[in-house]
Amino acid sequence: MKEKIAIVGSGIGGIAAAIRLAAQGHDVTVFEQADKPGGKLNELKQDGFRFDTGPSLFTLPGLVEELFSIGKSSAQTNFKYHKLENVCKYHYEDGTVLNAWADPHRFASEACEKVGEPAWRVHNYLNKVKEMYNLSAGLFIFRPFARWETFRSEAGKKVAKKFHKLDMLLSMHQRNKRSFKSKHLVKLFDRYGTYNGSNPYRAPATLNMIAHLEHSEGAYFPDKGMYDIITQLVNHARELGVVFNFNSRVEEVLFQNNKVRGGRVNGSRFFADRVVSDMDVTGFYKHLMPARKIPLRVRLMEKSSSAVIFYWGINHTFPGLELHNIFFAENYKEEFRYLFRKKQLYYDPTVYVFISNKVTGTDAPAGMENWFVMINAPVNQGQYTKEMMAELRTNIINKLSRMLDVDVNKHIVSESIGTPVTIEENTSSAGGAIYGSSSNSRFSAFMRHPNRVKRFGGLHFVGGSVHPGGGIPLCIASAGIVSNDIENENQKSKK
Ligand code: FAD
Repeated sequence: MKEKIAIVGSGIGGIAAAIRLAAQGHDVTVFEQADKPGGKLNELKQDGFRFDTGPSLFTLPGLVEELFSIGKSSAQTNFKYHKLENVCKYHYEDGTVLNAWADPHRFASEACEKVGEPAWRVHNYLNKVKEMYNLSAGLFIFRPFARWETFRSEAGKKVAKKFHKLDMLLSMHQRNKRSFKSKHLVKLFDRYGTYNGSNPYRAPATLNMIAHLEHSEGAYFPDKGMYDIITQLVNHARELGVVFNFNSRVEEVLFQNNKVRGGRVNGSRFFADRVVSDMDVTGFYKHLMPARKIPLRVRLMEKSSSAVIFYWGINHTFPGLELHNIFFAENYKEEFRYLFRKKQLYYDPTVYVFISNKVTGTDAPAGMENWFVMINAPVNQGQYTKEMMAELRTNIINKLSRMLDVDVNKHIVSESIGTPVTIEENTSSAGGAIYGSSSNSRFSAFMRHPNRVKRFGGLHFVGGSVHPGGGIPLCIASAGIVSNDIENENQKSKK
């Protein structure tokens, strides 16, 4: 049955849903409040530099490829990416530098040589997180959660039999401390907690499986930068008939007898059989369904971390830096206490420097580099003053200058700043949270908002603030769940 489907938001989740639903034969329209697609996965051009403004780590590229393979289109041939040999270069305050080579044997040798960790321990750990990922991905990522059909599925039965392997009792940090002798490696693997905006000192050790993606499945990068994912997917969606409306803020979703009837955009009504929301779920209830209360689970869940990002044009090249570089805080635990308990910026944060020009070669003028310099930051609660940002900038410049033995400030020739406040303003994400809610509790997976609410017929949710969570792969997975739900509902109603 061909339906009229409206999608609110053109983040990666919204675009993935649009592609899947258009390929099912529906009449799909995307409304996006911004003047271009992408949401958090976006780009900025300034003074001859180009920056990917949000995601920079690209794993499970097969999920993007799968979207190109849906329906007929020439776009798939235009999206090119490749596997990284060095996943990330880690710098520690004591002068240690560790390369996370994609080849697990090379990485284990590096860990043995540089920080004295026996290679067998590294291999044991990678095997364990692989087992955890293979056991649970089918249940926690690619299926609707908290539904009987999911728990009764083969994936559900498999997890039930080996539940203890999910390692839910310890925190990520506790497990990592037991797995490695080297404090450097504990820090390196703890950091994967931040890949979904969580605190490794509280998040369950199950999340250590995130490391499996980079260390065994591989880290990748698009040849033209991250925003090419959006450019090519939107081209593909258009070829499948999806209509994109930019500068179009949806103001309300309209219901009749608890069934979606359409909505209001820029003051005009539109008709739709279904609405798929890709916007942050808190904002969705607050602004698009103001007459209903925000569900308790949405109100109760702790938000994920946000970020402060300096986009710096640098008039120098640094051959010693890679595409992805980490400069660790000396006291990692304290950094997370500031992030999640004090909700303040820590004076010595872990700094991530991402230089897309290392791969693309077209994102900076000759002899220069585009530095995306990011720290994890608490969600916006009104605490971000000008003074605070100025102090942070000084602290970061001092840290990078000290650890790279160069005066970084001298080389900054262009600058823009992204903060939790601007992320919130630009994408309507509550508090500027970059991954929706955190996974700081064992029950987070159970608490996350589902992809549909049966009470409201025709209403569906995709994207990082709902099941299965934030990050490009999970947002794409959410679109798969929603398109399956719609297909199943339509098939049932045919019978
Ligand atoms: P969003 O990107 O949140 O987009 C929602 C869209 O809805 C926006 O375009 C918004 O304008 C629009 N919208 C909102 N309200 C309305 C309305 N009323 N009407 C119309 N449109 C509306 N993920 C990774 O996988 N790897 C990374 O390395 C990584 N790093 C990140 C770094 C940063 C700085 C940030 C910000 C995010 C990062 N993420 C990363 C997370 C990732 O970007 C997100 O999980 C993902 O892009 C979210 O996609 P989404 O589908 O939820 O939609």
